Amino acid sequence: MAAAATQVSPTAQVSQFLNRPKKLLIGGKWVEAVSGKTFATLNPATEETLAEVAEGDAADIDKAVKSARMAFEDGPWRRLTPSERGKLIWKLADLVEKNLDEFATLESLDNGKPRLIAAVADVPLAVDLFRYMAGWATKIEGNTIPISVPYAPGSRYFAYTLREPVGVVGQIIPWNFPLLMAAWKLGPALACGCTVVLKPAEQTPLSALRLGELICEAGFPDGVVNIVTGYGETAGAALAAHSQVDKVAFTGSTEVGKLILKAAAGNLKKVSLELGGKSPNIVCADADLEVAIPGAANAVFFNHGQCCCAGSRLYVEKQVFDKVVEGVSEHAKRIKLGSGLDPSTEMGPLVSSEQLERVTGYLESGLSQGAKPVVGGKRVGSKGYFVEPTVLVDVKPDMKVVREEIFGPVVVAMPVSDMNEVQTAANDTSYGLAAGIWTNDIAKAHSLAAQLRAGTVWINCYNVFDAALPFGGYKESGWGREMGHEVLELYTETKAVCVKL
Ligand code: ADP
Repeated sequence: MAAAATQVSPTAQVSQFLNRPKKLLIGGKWVEAVSGKTFATLNPATEETLAEVAEGDAADIDKAVKSARMAFEDGPWRRLTPSERGKLIWKLADLVEKNLDEFATLESLDNGKPRLIAAVADVPLAVDLFRYMAGWATKIEGNTIPISVPYAPGSRYFAYTLREPVGVVGQIIPWNFPLLMAAWKLGPALACGCTVVLKPAEQTPLSALRLGELICEAGFPDGVVNIVTGYGETAGAALAAHSQVDKVAFTGSTEVGKLILKAAAGNLKKVSLELGGKSPNIVCADADLEVAIPGAANAVFFNHGQCCCAGSRLYVEKQVFDKVVEGVSEHAKRIKLGSGLDPSTEMGPLVSSEQLERVTGYLESGLSQGAKPVVGGKRVGSKGYFVEPTVLVDVKPDMKVVREEIFGPVVVAMPVSDMNEVQTAANDTSYGLAAGIWTNDIAKAHSLAAQLRAGTVWINCYNVFDAALPFGGYKESGWGREMGHEVLELYTETKAVCVKL
């Protein structure tokens, strides 16, 4: 489980990109930040600087919003047919696919995740999302509505609804799936005809900037997509508060989600939020443990536990508790940590020193309150932000490690006696993003799925994502749904038109 220091050289294409200046995309042009400042983005496996990136702040956000506003009101974008919009999005998907290797390497370098995983998950999912949304561009329709108007007897009307783009959209995304989160946000906004200011996470700006180059290459009109890299407290906060932004879409922590909501109140812009989670993963005694055990390990350790939907609370029926804990712990022990570019690596470093501190802080808190690590429990090495995949037992429902989102490779395992107990325990959280159930009893699976207060329930599987499947949270896990046709609601306004005949 030792973190390997092996570094595999990135390809020439990636090196060329890293050597190009990293500017802001505003109005179709790459420009320096108004302040002239830059910030470093690091490789979390080596703690070395990968590139200096323009540090946008409120002044740059203002320029970007004005450019998005102009592109929305006056530009050629609004005159494109839905089919032409769809074709552009499809073309972007093709370009991302053509550069799949480069994107996978950039994600690995900037975020730490294994390159091979980014190449089969992050990038293909982003391509698929763009294609799925390209198809929707021609299918955003209103209704014709028969109306009665009780106070106008004898009058006849023709009434219908139009679905119009919501306007200029600010999109603030996190660092755990940098390209995919950009796709989840941009795809539906563009399909609906909005214009966008995108603010990538400061920890992982690279793939969004490369995507910006491809957006220009695909031929989107200037100003339709603007990309401003910078910090959350400055650039992000300015975007959420800007009075010329019609809607803000945010993915990130629940804490920052609440700040976004407050900032958005100034002009009552529309808000959608995809926030944190503390998802229950339930293994019933009748489950096929050959499948459930690796499934439970994948549920929490995928992407180093840096998933808002990570199955981080593992509830196991008493009869099989020891067996499941032992099995998941064996999996954890075998996970090979290392640099994401090393093809044998199964888990890379956490994304940043802040994240390392946060996860090790939770581990210390759990251990000091009496939780016991069956495996893991600490940092690995002193270079790079590696943490051991960890399984904690002997936890109590009120411990921080059980209640709060750790966002790292840490699962708390708890025995349960029956389905009533598990349902109550699983729902005993302020979050409601996802849940997992492992059972061979079909009636139990569906009954439990109906009882769980979560936006996604996976049965005998976990982390299954598809562009057509809506994703989002109950309770403090958010507002609205990403993906599927549900997301189109977030990027359109409905206009009722009524004609007297
Ligand atoms: P994490 O805590 O996991 O880093 P955050 O919720 O802080 O996640 O970050 C997600 C995104 O929100 C990033 O793009 C970040 O820059 C941005 N962000 C952070 N703070 C704010 C803020 N006060 N206002 C707007 N955006 C913010």
